[in-house]
Amino acid sequence: MTIAVCYPDKYSVEEAFQLLKIPWVWYEEGCHYDVVIARKADVPGYDGPLIDLTDNDFFERISTLLNTGQPHLHEPVCDLLLDAVRQELKKYTILVEIPPAPWGHSYMVALTHDVDVTSVRECRLVTVGYAVFQCIMHGSVFAGLRLGLSRIGIGNDSWDLFERWKTFEDQLGVRSTFFFVPKKDDPGVRAHPYRAVCYDLNIDVLHDLTTGGWETGVHGIDNWTDSQRGKLEMASISPCGEASGNRTHWLLFDQNSWKVLDDAGYSYDTTFGYNDDAGFRAGILQVYRPRTAQRLLELPLHIQDLGLFGKFCWAPSENGWEKTPCLHLDVIAARTYCDRILDFAEKYGGVVTLLWHYENLTPPRDWSGTYAELVKRAQADGAWVTTAGSVVEWFEIRRKTGIGYEINKGLITIRINNPHSGHNHPMRVRIHIDPALVSSVDTEHRPGNGYIDIVCTRPEITVALT
Ligand SMILES: [Zn+2]
Repeated sequence: MTIAVCYPDKYSVEEAFQLLKIPWVWYEEGCHYDVVIARKADVPGYDGPLIDLTDNDFFERISTLLNTGQPHLHEPVCDLLLDAVRQELKKYTILVEIPPAPWGHSYMVALTHDVDVTSVRECRLVTVGYAVFQCIMHGSVFAGLRLGLSRIGIGNDSWDLFERWKTFEDQLGVRSTFFFVPKKDDPGVRAHPYRAVCYDLNIDVLHDLTTGGWETGVHGIDNWTDSQRGKLEMASISPCGEASGNRTHWLLFDQNSWKVLDDAGYSYDTTFGYNDDAGFRAGILQVYRPRTAQRLLELPLHIQDLGLFGKFCWAPSENGWEKTPCLHLDVIAARTYCDRILDFAEKYGGVVTLLWHYENLTPPRDWSGTYAELVKRAQADGAWVTTAGSVVEWFEIRRKTGIGYEINKGLITIRINNPHSGHNHPMRVRIHIDPALVSSVDTEHRPGNGYIDIVCTRPEITVALT
């Protein structure tokens, strides 16, 4: 059973099949295949079954979207295209794949927080004054008063929220990733002056979080433009030298950023998303490798609190920095907006990445209710809700896993080459076959609608057909 591909751009094909996780080979003239994917003109000597790319070059569309993105994209176009390929391949062969969701889970959710502030006392007076005004405007007079008083040192610090986050997420039964800015009072190169943050990194706070099962990462200032600075920024967050993930502050990014971050040794990036919207900038619900990166993986960002609820954000333009409107939704509309994104994940698997800013657990922007609702919905869907790093690690294992299969005398033998088969969120193998045609499987399995899922914990699986 072989699917062969003939296509000039190696990256596009390899990445598409990393996302599909279906066995395939490069086309060689004169060989026999179940189906070939190619532009007809590129395989002149071949007259067997062909998926012709001449007018429908999905490799090109997927790799362009993954690497250049698109503004205001509200559908995971790459996942839709990959599913169309899957449906087409099923016409020619019994398809075997490793879907992008662990055994026993419908999809994954990566929870993240950008830490732009850690205390009221260190903030500029104008920032706190505006926050107090917002509290009063929204009827939270008491919270506004407390915020104002804590700025001048009276009472508890309203924005010292690590303990509250820990309790809040403990109650939800989840852990998340906190991204910290590595340096104070520095807006960074090519940045608006407002971008500077006012806090000094407190390594004890980071240590306390990681001890409790949370993850910490870099909220980059200049690491997206310069790999030497990227190394320094990573070293200040992880003094012991272990690689960490990155989300760049204000989501600043250019076409060199993935290469620069990769050269600096970051384990992943999760910057590729919207400041002014929620949806699919890269058109995908999966972790992927950008073309310019050797090792770095991108965990696309789908939903952020400020994109949903905020009035505007700062965006770079030809005329310098400009205010761009955000969605500015109310709680009910925001929930509908997010549910649509989670619905896609329920259907196609993969991961939805959520960003809730550290300070938005309390007035004037207490959006914790929506955060909790989204976590609970995902849990009710059977999603694995966890840190960004855990999701990236799971995809990394799936990428490194090899899969092959053969069908012989009513037996399907599947061979899995998984370097980390002991992971506590194992992968699954899906065979696209009517479950009524399967008489036995030599390990744990579940029938679905037109397929059978098998837990992927052993190197060889045997499926007997009726
Ligand atoms: Zn930030």
